Amino acid sequence: MSPVIDAPVVDVMGRPLRDLRISVTDRCNLRCTYCMPRAVFDENHSFLPRAELLSFEEIERLARQFVGLGVRKIRLTGGEPLLRRGIEQLVERLARLQTTAGAPVEIALTTNGVLLAKKAQALKDAGLTRITVSLDGLSEATFRRMSDTDTPVQTVLDGIAEAQRLGLAPVKVNMVVRRGVNDHEIVAMAGHFRNSGMVLRFIEYMDVGCSNGWRMDEVVPAREMLDRVAARYSLRPVDPNYVGEVAERWLYADGGGEIGVIASVTQAFCHECTRARLSTDGRLYTCLFATDGLDLRAPLRGGMSEGELVESIAACWRRRGDRYSQLRHAGGGIVAQKIEMSYIGG
Ligand code: SAM
Ligand code: SF4
Ligand code: SF4
Repeated sequence: MSPVIDAPVVDVMGRPLRDLRISVTDRCNLRCTYCMPRAVFDENHSFLPRAELLSFEEIERLARQFVGLGVRKIRLTGGEPLLRRGIEQLVERLARLQTTAGAPVEIALTTNGVLLAKKAQALKDAGLTRITVSLDGLSEATFRRMSDTDTPVQTVLDGIAEAQRLGLAPVKVNMVVRRGVNDHEIVAMAGHFRNSGMVLRFIEYMDVGCSNGWRMDEVVPAREMLDRVAARYSLRPVDPNYVGEVAERWLYADGGGEIGVIASVTQAFCHECTRARLSTDGRLYTCLFATDGLDLRAPLRGGMSEGELVESIAACWRRRGDRYSQLRHAGGGIVAQKIEMSYIGG
């Protein structure tokens, strides 16, 4: 049992701790140019050795403490989470957790979809609640340019179809948009996922990590993406599902379903950010753009009591003042040594 601290714990800006993203591996079977460019993540790159990764038991212990502090939703990510052997066993452990209000914790997962057709049933059986699949284009040429892979697009589409068939609904599909690389497929993607029951979300290209050579002129603002879709299909806005939802939601006026835009660069949402991130090797990061995290693995392995551990997590969150995207927007906030997304968890 974790000791009782009034949940949710809040940071210096009054933001509660509600969401936990856990990176279960820093490895990936794709090399998306905006995340793990091959020139950096090549055969000489040192990925974390197995002993450095948190075990499933360690992840479960930490997750239970976060839940005790107010977390209601856990998202497994990476790297590519489906590369972590036995990932469904971790889902099964986490699916047993209950929020401080006694409700089940929502367990979601973000994947590139390459292994999803094979894994979806086991994930569903283990208690996965929701799934998000990343797909940045429909043509082989665009997919290859974005994700630097020979994997056919159809492999990802088959994974998406299987998740949908199993009722991991609504499946969300994330498209990161880079000007001049895949922005010409915005409307085709909208057309493909209309009337499917799935929710396509267009994501502004962000300056995460230090290896993607990000430039502002490659960012297509969410407003422009919406304008392009609206020129083809009429749209109307809808209210967020909950406070702090990062995607702005839109419906097709003819009932063709929903799309979303995530404007992390042009309309920062730091004031509502309730997310903590647990890296593959057990560090707690309070912002996607953090330069440093709190090591939880050493005290966990060193035998620190549950009470001390939960207090150190709470203290870290109470000190939190991160608002990188707001500062970037205001013309500041660019820091040199940001952690790579594959390690910290996208
Ligand atoms: N490998 C899984 C996947 O791609 O879905 C999970 C990890 S990935 C880091 C999580 C999400 O971050 C993906 O939807 C990916 O498109 C997004 N992402 C990665 N780098 C990004 C960037 N520079 N800007 C915006 N989104 C990015
Ligand atoms: Fe891998 Fe996901 Fe990063 Fe692409 S975005 S390189 S699939 S971790
Ligand atoms: Fe949250 Fe940091 Fe992103 Fe702002 S920049 S929304 S604080 S993760």
